[in-house]
Amino acid sequence: MSIPWWLPWLLLELATAGSAFFLWRQLVRLHHGVRGLVTEGKLPYRRDGPTVVQATFKDLYRLEVRLREIGQQIADEDFSLRAILSSMVEGVLILDRQFQVRLINQRLQDMFQLPRAPLGRTVMEVFRNHLLHQVIQRTLGTGSPQFEELQMEVNEGERPATRHFQVTSVGMRPDREGGSAGILVIFHDITQMRALEAVRKEFVANVSHELRTPLSILSGYLETLLDDEVDPVTTKRFLETMHRHAKRLNALVEDLLLLSQLESRRLPLHLESVGVRSCFQQVLERFDSVIQATQTAVTVVAPEELTVQADPFRVEQALFNLIDNALKYGGKPGLKLTLRAEVEGNDLVIRVIDNGPGIPLSDQPHIFERFYRVYKDRSRDGGGTGLGLSIVKHTVLAHGGSVGVDSSPGKGSTFILRLPLVPVS
Ligand code: ADP
Repeated sequence: MSIPWWLPWLLLELATAGSAFFLWRQLVRLHHGVRGLVTEGKLPYRRDGPTVVQATFKDLYRLEVRLREIGQQIADEDFSLRAILSSMVEGVLILDRQFQVRLINQRLQDMFQLPRAPLGRTVMEVFRNHLLHQVIQRTLGTGSPQFEELQMEVNEGERPATRHFQVTSVGMRPDREGGSAGILVIFHDITQMRALEAVRKEFVANVSHELRTPLSILSGYLETLLDDEVDPVTTKRFLETMHRHAKRLNALVEDLLLLSQLESRRLPLHLESVGVRSCFQQVLERFDSVIQATQTAVTVVAPEELTVQADPFRVEQALFNLIDNALKYGGKPGLKLTLRAEVEGNDLVIRVIDNGPGIPLSDQPHIFERFYRVYKDRSRDGGGTGLGLSIVKHTVLAHGGSVGVDSSPGKGSTFILRLPLVPVS
């Protein structure tokens, strides 16, 4: 990040103008003093001839006018400088050579929740950060700008939090010995950028891990089949396992593609009037055999005529993921599954309710995140990619709706989809 060229210039202007302002005040006093002496007749003053007093008087008057103009200029520049500093997204700090705060903008005060400008206090007293102190020291020592990324503790509400700052520290106007007259420090908050980077890294690591497992299983079986004499029964068993893992790979790649399209809003929605009840029935038909095998009791509560403007294919896919999870994690014969739809305000609210094991409270805030699993082995054994609920979430978001979960461990889970009856395009 570079410091705007005009900022040090403005600060120098302000300092110079400050001295001029002081001088002007002195001259005004002097001028008034001389005029007072003339009025009282203590000083000889004749209009018709140049006297020392008259010349001095005129000079003083001219100086006073000039300095009044400079004073106005100062006020204008001071106003502009304050306006610029307070509208900057970066935090700005000016220190003297003793590292005492001379100026701080509102943004920096807000970043560190400083109730008032800590003028006159040292940088160490205010920020309590050795690295920041060192960066500023280096600026003075080397005379060249320093750039450093710092993690600093700030208060966010009542809680302390760590934020990342790109700190730039530059020396201001050289003094006679060639050193700095003061230091300008700019704080650029890059916490969000670092958080996104961490998410991206974690995502790449997760994808690599998810791909590596089935791929290494596949290549292991292939090597055995190629190198060893394997009887036909074992060969068939190997091939079946390979097929299962190839299917998992395929599902993973498909889910990843879909999720990336949904997230980047590249997937156009084909909105039409969708009958909610028939949509429920169509998805349930795809689970017929599992429902029979697990003796799941399914209840559908949805008015026959209830419709929503939505992409039927996407809504079915979201429902498919939720029902698949309910059956997969329900974990007991005699599971009860309820699909309920009703209108609340301008929204269609769909609830997918099961009486399975539920989701631990600590996991609930994370289950819509990519690759987040509560029951890792059960998810993988059941062919889960860890992306099902993320797809549900982004499908609903793409329709302008929202998702939520309500679950008590041991008592089952309710997934709630809220879709606008008519999405605003
Ligand atoms: P997965 O492919 O693992 O099923 P999901 O994103 O669909 O991925 O689900 C994330 C995790 O949420 C699952 O691994 C599971 O631990 C938990 N989960 C989802 N639905 C249910 C449910 N109905 N009951 C209990 N746990 C569930």
